[in-house]
Amino acid sequence: MRLILLGPPGAGKGTQARNLIDAYGIPQLSTGDILRSAIRAKTPMGLEAKAVMDRGDLVSDTVVNGIVSERLDQEDARKGFILDGFPRTIPQAEALDHMLAEKGMKLDAVIELTADAETLTRRIVNRARQNAETTGARADDNEEVVKNRLNVYLEQTAPLVEYYRGKGLLKSIDGMAPVDEVTASIRQAVGG
Ligand code: ADP
Repeated sequence: MRLILLGPPGAGKGTQARNLIDAYGIPQLSTGDILRSAIRAKTPMGLEAKAVMDRGDLVSDTVVNGIVSERLDQEDARKGFILDGFPRTIPQAEALDHMLAEKGMKLDAVIELTADAETLTRRIVNRARQNAETTGARADDNEEVVKNRLNVYLEQTAPLVEYYRGKGLLKSIDGMAPVDEVTASIRQAVGG
């Protein structure tokens, strides 16, 4: 099973990816996780990505395309994968098409988790406030960043919905339903 999870910050991609890993026994491939571990390891890529990520902007297509291409070559990705957080731009989606063709792989479905903007803003601003309480960071900084991430999603990532609809791969699922219901709807949509 080869899946992409698409959806705005706060739509529950990470939670659903974890449930699907258990259900299908395939790895989650999260560009956000890989970038954060590069930051922790202080690699040149991590150092370069940190400032961009702290603002809520997107890391360059070249960097994330490289990460994904390498990750897809690892043994555990042979039987399938769940891409979470990639692609995030049309050029990334086009690069992915090339990579998969080269590697002789085909996507099964692109799952769009839908959520209304108001609920999302409320969810992610609440999360930012809780974060600020535990880390002592300024809440308005955090709120600004999460709002920026939502705008970046709407401007750069939302066009992927039409891109994948055009390829007949898109399955839209209501991301506002309870977690287990969302998982069940995804499984039903991908046929298993
Ligand atoms: P979320 O909390 O929405 O799941 P992620 O953990 O996927 O966010 O990503 C966190 C940050 O990492 C993004 O805001 C962005 O700066 C960077 N990032 C992750 N994936 C990509 C990508 N495919 N293209 C560009 N930047 C990315």
